[in-house]
Parts: sequence; C-alpha cells; structure tokens
Amino acid sequence: MRKIAIYGKGGIGKSTTQQNTAAAMAHYYDKKVFIHGCDPKADSTRLILGGQHQETLMDVLREHGAQKVTNDKVISEGYLGIRCVESGGPEPGVGCAGRGVITAIDLMEANGAYTEDLDFVFFDVLGDVVCGGFAMPIRDGKAEEVYIVASGEMMAIYAANNICKGLVKYAKQSGVRLGGIICNSRKVDREREFLEEFTAAIGTQMIHFVPRDNIVQKAEFNKKTVVEYDATENQAKEYGILAKKIIDNKNFVIPKPLTMDELEAMVVKYGIGD
Ligand code: ADP
Ligand code: MG
Repeated sequence: MRKIAIYGKGGIGKSTTQQNTAAAMAHYYDKKVFIHGCDPKADSTRLILGGQHQETLMDVLREHGAQKVTNDKVISEGYLGIRCVESGGPEPGVGCAGRGVITAIDLMEANGAYTEDLDFVFFDVLGDVVCGGFAMPIRDGKAEEVYIVASGEMMAIYAANNICKGLVKYAKQSGVRLGGIICNSRKVDREREFLEEFTAAIGTQMIHFVPRDNIVQKAEFNKKTVVEYDATENQAKEYGILAKKIIDNKNFVIPKPLTMDELEAMVVKYGIGD
C-alpha cells in the first residue's frame, strides 16, 4: 500500500485531479484506492460518490461520540469500489480545522480503515500552508509520498515552493518524499517550460502536464470524474497517463526549495505577473 498526500494552493485543482486520477487508477489499472479528504470543505470525494451526501467523520464524532465513528458509518464506496471518507471540520469559528485532520486520521488508523488490500491511500489536504494539523499527513509519516499540484501562475509556484519548505522540515523525521509536481494547466504562456525549469531547480520532476479541458467541468456538473463520464475523451486518457506515471514512479526526493530571490528571478524570466 502506498500512502500519498496531495498538496497545492487552494482552487488549483487538487480534489479534481486526485479524484480523476484515482478513478483512472481503478478503471485502467484495476487498483484499489481509498480517498481520505482532509479539507474542511469536505469536497474531496463527491465525484467518486456521484454527489451522494456523506456525513463527515467530525460530524459523526461531534454528534454521536468516538465509538460511533465506525468504518461502516463514515466510509462510503463509490465508482469501482473506491472508498471515501471526509474528515470534515469543526463548527465554523470554533476550534482548529487542522486538529480535525489529526483526529480523523488517528480514528481511521485505530479502526483499521486503511486495509492491506488497498494499493493506494490518498490524502487530499487543503491549501498552501503546511502548518499544524495540515502538516500532519507528512509530519507523522502518515503519507510517504507527496505530489504538489501547481500551474504556471505565480501564486501557485510560490505555494509549491512553500510546501517544499515544509516538506524539508519533516522529511528526515517522517521519511516523507516528494514524488513530483503535477502541472494542472491554466493555459499560461510558456507554462510547461516554466514548470520544467522550476521542478528541475528544486530537484524533482514535472510528473505530468494535465491540460485544461472543459470536459472536466461537464463531468463535474454530472457529479462524475471524466473517466466515468466518458472514457473516450482525451482528458480521460490524460488522467490515465498520470495514473500510470504515479504507479511507476521511482523519483522520490527531499526537494531543495528556492530562495525568494531565486524564485523571483525565475518569475521575471518568464514574464509572469506582467
Ligand atoms: P482544490 O481542491 O485545489 O481547491 P478543485 O479541485 O476544487 O481545487 O478545483 C477547482 C475547479 O477547477 C474545479 O471546480 C474544476 O472544475 C476546475 N478544474 C480543475 N482542474 C481542471 C482542468 N484540468 N480542466 C478544467 N477545469 C479544471
Ligand atoms: Mg479541494
């Protein structure tokens, strides 16, 4: 079983990319996948579950207590048997959302939810700050591999670089490694070149360039991944290629994040933010 955490700036496409890739892993390669949503928004699994309502782990915990947080109650099976849980979060304005992630992963481990028959467990973690509970999947060795979703936009690269700084901090103690950066294209000029240069500079790879394609939204509107919605679409094949690259990946590193000056020089070179 490989445990993978997906990080990246909010709105960059983590949940979309992750669900589509998980669906492709199951559809094309018969892989058994578990998705653990770690975003208080609890939207990490809706495309796999066809939009069916799922009670979050933190909701069950709050309303019924820890003994009621059984696998049956909080884990749902979706497309091709992909298992899904959403951590959820505290009531808005009360408590720390990161704390919820810690509680949720601890409870799932105590319940033996990450069973040995699984090929992949994905943690879909929010945001760009690798602090508190949101660092937990990589700090305590819950996830062994990290992929960062980014694009050629300046803020996405800043976030990716920051996440790498967090990774470096925990890599020695937890053994976590960076498996690569997934470019989720925003159709920015020279995006592929920029990402290639950035990833090489920090010592990793751009594992795949995922095109921007409206079929993603169309499938999403139908509460499905692209693979489930229409596997003949080119975008379904792209997620299939990304799935295969992750399955075969051997490139795991402790990244070397850039200094602010280096990053800014690269941004200027590519004319981003003009
Ligand atoms: P995050 O989980 O990083 O906050 P989401 O996965 O929710 O981001 O993505 C935000 C929106 O971007 C989604 O509603 C989705 O429709 C869109 N999106 C993501 N990737 C693509 C893509 N490759 N092509 C087209 N739209 C995309
Ligand atoms: Mg998300």
